[in-house]
Amino acid sequence: TNSEEQSSLEAYQWLVKLYHHLLRHSKDGKEALEYLYNRGFNDEVINEFQIGYSPSSRDFVPQFLEKKGFHKQKMANVGLLATSNDGQYYDRFQGRVIFPIRNHLGKPIGFGGRSVQGQEPKYLNSPESALFQKSKLLYNFDLARAEIRRKGEAVLFEGYADVIASYQAGVKNGVASLGTSLTETHANLLRRYVDTVVICYDADSAGQNATYKAIQLLKKVGCHIRVASLPYKYDPDQYIQEFGEESFRTKVIESADTEMVFFLQYLKKDFNLSLEGDRLQYVEKVISEIAKLSSSIERDHYIREIADEFNLSYDALSQELMSRMRNIE
Ligand code: ATP
Ligand code: MN
Ligand code: MN
Ligand code: MN
Repeated sequence: TNSEEQSSLEAYQWLVKLYHHLLRHSKDGKEALEYLYNRGFNDEVINEFQIGYSPSSRDFVPQFLEKKGFHKQKMANVGLLATSNDGQYYDRFQGRVIFPIRNHLGKPIGFGGRSVQGQEPKYLNSPESALFQKSKLLYNFDLARAEIRRKGEAVLFEGYADVIASYQAGVKNGVASLGTSLTETHANLLRRYVDTVVICYDADSAGQNATYKAIQLLKKVGCHIRVASLPYKYDPDQYIQEFGEESFRTKVIESADTEMVFFLQYLKKDFNLSLEGDRLQYVEKVISEIAKLSSSIERDHYIREIADEFNLSYDALSQELMSRMRNIE
C-alpha cells in the first residue's frame, strides 16, 4: 500500500543519515573514511552523495529501526534488513562503506555496500523489491538530470565509484546502470532527455562486450553514441586518480570517438590479423558495417582508413562497399 511505501522511504532516509553520521563520527567509521580519502574522494562529494558506513554489528541497524517504530518484517520486504534461517533480522551491509542509491526523484531506495578490506563479495547491493528495481533505475539520474538536459548529452558508467569520481572531476552528467547490463527501459529513459550518450565503461573485456550491447540498444531508440576509450584495464575512477581530472575531461570524455571507431577495434577480437585469411574476413565484416552508415563522407573516411591500415586498394574497397550497399537497399 501507499502508506507502506511511505514508511519504507522514511526508513531509508533515516538509515542514510545514520550511516553517514557513523562514517563521519564513529571510531569504526574512521577507517572507512580513510579508505574513501585514499581513493581520492573529497568531503564535498562524500556529503553530496551521503556516503556512509555500516558498523560491524548484526543488531545495531535492526534495533535502530525498531526504536524508530518501523516494522521489521516490512523493512525486510524492501531490503532494509536481511533475515537469517532462524528468523533473526540483521544488517547485511555490516562493516561496509555505503553508497545510497536514490530514485529519479532523489529519494534513497537502496544501498550498495562496498567491502573495505578486500572481503568478498566486493559489492553487496540491496535486493530487488517493489521499491528498488535495477532494470528501471539509473544511478545518479536525479543529480545529473539538469546537466544532462543542458548538454543534451549523458555519460554512461559502470559503477558508483566512476559516477562519483567523474562528478568530482566536473563531469556532472554521469549515470550508471549498476552492474546489470543496460536495459531497454534505461535506453528509453535516456532518449527522452538526450540526443547523444557517451559510453564510458571499464576497459576490460566485460566492459567492451557491455559497450557493444549498449550501442545496439541505444541505437535502436535513436540515440547518437560516442564511446570513450581508456587505457587497457583502467576504469574511469582509476584513470582520474592516475592521470587527473583535466585529462579525464579532455582526453577521455570530450575526445570520445564515434561508435564506428569502437567497432573497428572491437571486431578485431574475433580475428588473428597476422593471418591473411582472417584479415580479409575482418575487412569484409567491417565493410558491411561501413555500408550501414548514412553519411557518404563518413563511409569514405572509414574506407580510406581501412585501405591504409591493411595496405589495400581504395578503389577495390569502394567497389566492394557499393555492392554491399546495393544489397542493403
Ligand atoms: P571499485 O572501484 O569500488 O572497485 P567498480 O565500480 O570499479 O568498483 P566494478 O567491478 O567495475 O566495480 O563493477 C561495476 C559495478 O557493478 C559496481 O559499481 C557495482 O554496482 C556492480 N558490482 C560489482 N561487483 C558486484 C558484486 N559482486 N555484486 C553485485 N554488484 C556488483
Ligand atoms: Mn567492471
Ligand atoms: Mn570498475
Ligand atoms: Mn573502480
